[in-house]
Amino acid sequence: MNNARTGSVTNFDAWKHAYAARASNLSVSEVRALFAVVSRPEVVSLAGGMPDVSALDGALIEQAFESLMKNKRNFALQYGGGQGDLRLREQIQGIMAQDGINGSVEDIVITTGSQHGLELLADLFLDAGDVVLVEAPSYVGAVGIFRHKEAQIEHVFTDDEGISPVALAEAADALLAQGRKVKLLYLVPNFANPSGVTLSEARRPEVLKVCAERGILVVEDNPYGLLYFGEKPPKAMRSLDEDGVVYLGSFSKILSPGLRVGYVLAPPAIREKLVLANESAILSPATFAQMMVSEYLSIADWQGQIETYRRLYAKKRDAALEALEQYLPRVTTTRPDGGFFLWLTLPEGLNSKEMLPLAVNELVAYTPGTAFYGDGRGANNIRVCFSHPTAENVKIGIKRLSNVINLQLDLLDTFGNKA
Ligand code: PMP
Repeated sequence: MNNARTGSVTNFDAWKHAYAARASNLSVSEVRALFAVVSRPEVVSLAGGMPDVSALDGALIEQAFESLMKNKRNFALQYGGGQGDLRLREQIQGIMAQDGINGSVEDIVITTGSQHGLELLADLFLDAGDVVLVEAPSYVGAVGIFRHKEAQIEHVFTDDEGISPVALAEAADALLAQGRKVKLLYLVPNFANPSGVTLSEARRPEVLKVCAERGILVVEDNPYGLLYFGEKPPKAMRSLDEDGVVYLGSFSKILSPGLRVGYVLAPPAIREKLVLANESAILSPATFAQMMVSEYLSIADWQGQIETYRRLYAKKRDAALEALEQYLPRVTTTRPDGGFFLWLTLPEGLNSKEMLPLAVNELVAYTPGTAFYGDGRGANNIRVCFSHPTAENVKIGIKRLSNVINLQLDLLDTFGNKA
């Protein structure tokens, strides 16, 4: 590629010989690769999992900023402790209590978004070849991290009640019998990304039992739990097992992802290592961002804000389901009770990745199902994220999507798989 400033030609392979072997596992994610296209205003993006931050009360954010600058500027602009701001950790206790969790501030570690918490955990626990059990499908960002650590990702059968404890035990036992080290179970039990599915109350203790009996640490990732549309989801798994579950939380979906503040509630046995890992990676989580969150929580009716988000996303979910019923009757969908996502299953023979350029041509974008598997599955699935466009645009997006899918289906009906 030509560098306009220097006139030189960039050789992107110039340092290939020097990369660590695991760098080959870093590839552009299917979600990220879409960002350039979907940011065009004429495209309705059902792709990236972005909150609708326009629903935040901007005046309150400004007030939090002004108060921080006026009263605590020298702290906000300074390094902080590696575990994170104490006042924020106390406030996090109150938020986690909403999910039935009774955690100590000593066991909370603040991270740069929960993605960073996941990265730290993967770094602490996974050697190359270790096994991580995940749902089928699983969160693309987690699959990416585990792949980068050269772990073996094993998807476990998951239905509309969440991951199956029976299949989990079978998968773990088969791998253990082969002498594999099965280290972690990673799951998003509430309104999962990408499926929208919630792990049933009955299965939660069963999943925990399977893992406890086999020495498998459970990583419970819960960024969407407070964004329920009807009934609250069942209590967090962490509330049932303090020693066997690492809990990840985030302000990205209930407040703003731009602040990049997340947290880990770790079993006491792990917490110290986690703090050391955090310090080693970033010295201290961003003081300014933590104190902005803390200030916001103290001046705002944040529960009211979450209520606003709930109503807004419920409306968008309804718009998506209505449009699917109307325009895509041959496509099946999950019906999430919260969160941001629907998971579509297309009739056999359609390939969502190959279809994507056609969809973008119709001015709609989505994430192909293969992004959510480490093993190539998901070719006839699509993740629809309904949280960011307006309800009206969600409908328009799905109508555009139906133009592509229905044409493909007509071709398939007429010519079979050779179409
Ligand atoms: N876990 C899940 C399931 C997510 O959907 C996301 C964001 N897409 C994250 C973790 C990371 O969120 P953040 O780093 O913004 O807290």
